[in-house]
Amino acid sequence: MDSQNSTRILERILDEVRTTDPLTVRTWFNDLTVQSFRGGHLDIGCPEETQAHYLQDHCLSVFTQAAQKATGYLVSISFHPVQAQTASGLAWSIAPSAPRLHPDYSFDNFVVGPCNRLAHASCIAISQNPGTIYNPLFLHGSVGLGKTHLLHAVCHDFRQKHNGLSIQFLSCEQFVNGFISAIEEGRLSEFQNQHRKVDVLIIDDVQFLREREQSQEEFFHTFNALYNNRRQIVLTADCAPGQLPSLEERLTSRFKWGLVARLDPPSYETRIAIVKKKAHLRDIKLPEGIAELIAEHVQSNIREIEGALTILYATAQTAGQPITAELARQALGIQQTAVPRSVTMADIIQAVSREFDIRVTDLQSKKRSQSIALPRQICMYLGRRLTRHSLEEIGGHLGGRDHSTVLHACSKIEDIYQSDNRIRTRIDLLTRQLDHTT
Ligand code: ADP
Ligand code: MG
Repeated sequence: MDSQNSTRILERILDEVRTTDPLTVRTWFNDLTVQSFRGGHLDIGCPEETQAHYLQDHCLSVFTQAAQKATGYLVSISFHPVQAQTASGLAWSIAPSAPRLHPDYSFDNFVVGPCNRLAHASCIAISQNPGTIYNPLFLHGSVGLGKTHLLHAVCHDFRQKHNGLSIQFLSCEQFVNGFISAIEEGRLSEFQNQHRKVDVLIIDDVQFLREREQSQEEFFHTFNALYNNRRQIVLTADCAPGQLPSLEERLTSRFKWGLVARLDPPSYETRIAIVKKKAHLRDIKLPEGIAELIAEHVQSNIREIEGALTILYATAQTAGQPITAELARQALGIQQTAVPRSVTMADIIQAVSREFDIRVTDLQSKKRSQSIALPRQICMYLGRRLTRHSLEEIGGHLGGRDHSTVLHACSKIEDIYQSDNRIRTRIDLLTRQLDHTT
């Protein structure tokens, strides 16, 4: 097939993906290219390796379906980075269990404001000069304020700048679990070598070490080995070193040897910039005033700002309507005068989506499989209990169900709540979380 033809097919596939699964779409999809299209196999090239991972992990099935629609026959698809991988790719491979880097979490995509300026600047500094200026670097702040994003950005940047140096990025949970299985399997020295010989060790969420004495001991020795060899250590936690409960003093005092930088909740202006950045990244065109509306409505953490944008976009797509201030108010449950804020349908849908690990679009879709229908009914039930929306309005947020469907869902979940302990626990948990967000 000639290249013009295959480019046209890729365009058709992308159009299809944009309508069927808009939330996975990123602006950089425009840079995808066809590498080959032979024997029913389409090889798609991406500028970056992390983008290929993202597509492989999150988009393979939607691309495959779209390709079938676009060509009329079954096409298998693979994604590959177009550029040859550098030597740092090799160094990276020492950490096979490390989380994959997210292509969205780069310095370019990080909005800097007074709330995170020091954390951002220190991350830039250490990715340029690891092990020299701020060691260890300790970032802390409550959930959803960008700690993990910054760590990914350090890794992205470091891989580009320092060919051949090794960097290891782990969640603290992975460190602890790795340590436990190394003991069980008699591979302790292998585990120790793996962590004590790297040039940069990054561990996310060290509060996870609390009440894990043996892991703290191991971490203490890892820290010392790296520190003494002037290797860079970067840590994050949900609170300052001095406030980490039940962590040994000798550890928390070391956490303060370098630079401790706090991330605060973003100001209104920073929130607006973040909404705009996220919309741009996802190829969402936001009309004037909408970013401000979201920024005003969602104040606590950035994950929720993203969630609000997602809900708004998904609602507009499902309804086949353009994004307007009116739609945004409806989708986000904003009542113009209502202060203090009450629980919104957007909060409920987000919380249920997280709790059941189901996409917002699926909750709002027509899909009827039990794994989706039950959480959707829980959304309706919670909507009835926690908001003042009418049955119709609740149904409207969940893909346009009518009031009798919502009523049926409420009484069904009522029954299940009485008879099924596990579901009751999950609903209670959701209710507590939602009460908390207001
Ligand atoms: P944390 O690790 O602190 O809980 P994350 O790094 O997971 O928070 O961030 C939550 C979400 O918010 C991510 O999608 C991230 O991209 C986004 N985010 C956080 N801070 C910023 C920022 N300053 N600019 C852009 N996006 C941000
Ligand atoms: Mg995090």
